[in-house]
Amino acid sequence: MALIVQKFGGTSVANRDRLFNVARIVANTRNEGNDVVVVVSAQGDTTDDLLQKAAEITHNPSQREMDMLLSTGEQISIALLTMALGEIGCPAISLTGWQAGFHTDRTHTKARIRRIEAERISNELAKNRVVVVAGFQGINRQDDITTLGRGGSDTSAVAIAAALHADLCQIFTDVDGVYTADPRVVKKARKLDVITFDEMLELASLGAQVLNNRSVELAKKYGVNLEVCSSMNNVPGTMVKEVVDVEGMLIKGVAKDVNVAVISILGVPDVPGMSFKVFSLMAQRNINVDIILQSSGDDGYKDLIFTVPLDEMEVARKVLEENISRFGGSKVEVQDDVAKVSVVGAGMQSHPGVASTMFEALYESNINIHMISTSEIKISVLIDKKEADKAVNAIHDAFLA
Ligand code: ADP
Ligand code: ASP
Ligand code: MG
Repeated sequence: MALIVQKFGGTSVANRDRLFNVARIVANTRNEGNDVVVVVSAQGDTTDDLLQKAAEITHNPSQREMDMLLSTGEQISIALLTMALGEIGCPAISLTGWQAGFHTDRTHTKARIRRIEAERISNELAKNRVVVVAGFQGINRQDDITTLGRGGSDTSAVAIAAALHADLCQIFTDVDGVYTADPRVVKKARKLDVITFDEMLELASLGAQVLNNRSVELAKKYGVNLEVCSSMNNVPGTMVKEVVDVEGMLIKGVAKDVNVAVISILGVPDVPGMSFKVFSLMAQRNINVDIILQSSGDDGYKDLIFTVPLDEMEVARKVLEENISRFGGSKVEVQDDVAKVSVVGAGMQSHPGVASTMFEALYESNINIHMISTSEIKISVLIDKKEADKAVNAIHDAFLA
């Protein structure tokens, strides 16, 4: 007998038929003699709809109240799925994030899990029940509800799998596994049988939303056996593992991220300490800075240009404008019509020429590159947003067709 954590995303639980489909998958797994913990997301577009409802009231909501609101979506799913399980004769109980013992830090809307007190889950499993847990949510030290950031149910699932030492964590979604690119954008994308944690972490961080990047980080840290598979087709999915034989496949995937904005601070004095002053302001606000460019000093001044997540652009602009006298820039400009396109593959460490193949593909499609960044296993370029899908296809053709 094994302990299996199964997570189902929003599309997989979107309506009555899909809920019963999920209930059958779960019941079959239990009937094969396994203990099953299920993690579910909010149905369909519920989370987006809740965000929209809040926006109708205020553009500056309390983050605590946002979490109170957003957490309701998952609570609907756990109750409905548990009822569906009951209907097909599978004993089950639903638990909210706090009932399931998810303790987080205090950062509302993007909290991090501190620890899981899993006694309640274990007790319910011992009663021979399937335990259906609300993903994406937890509780902080003030007993306030927190949420884990968009796509956070993946993280909930992997965290439970780690805490319970589960034999397998399956992320069921609306595609058959991890592909060489988003199959909705690239028709020729291929499903991968296996991918390394490091490659998956890069792909997820660079915009492949099929897995949330925190979930991959946790799976790597705790050695969770992770599989991405379809809730609609009963076919083998993609295993995410520590090491795989990379022979033969130089590049594992192409990713696109449109949640990106460029911030330019013009006319910053070219003296020591300016980068520190600017980026410590970003760090204090928990804003993730990604690609950084610095123009060479001209008459003792330089421009600092960097990317931030699009949804943090306005906060970043505000804090920089408020503090501009501290680092002496003349102007802060923002740009939101950009996208980041990346290639990922552990194989590039030992193969030169990946960058030139990528740049050639972009050149042949007449796409201009604004910024470039590289690490051992990825190359990213920043381009105009309207060219992003064309770029992903051109790069995919160059490496993976
Ligand atoms: P869920 O609601 O199940 O969490 P998501 O919408 O978060 O599902 O993630 C699944 C989606 O991720 C797919 O529908 C697909 O369009 C997208 N996606 C992006 N990149 C990839 C990739 N490389 N492989 C598979 N899916 C991808
Ligand atoms: N419902 C949340 C979201 O839409 C969490 C998740 O689906 O993983 O982001
Ligand atoms: Mg998701």
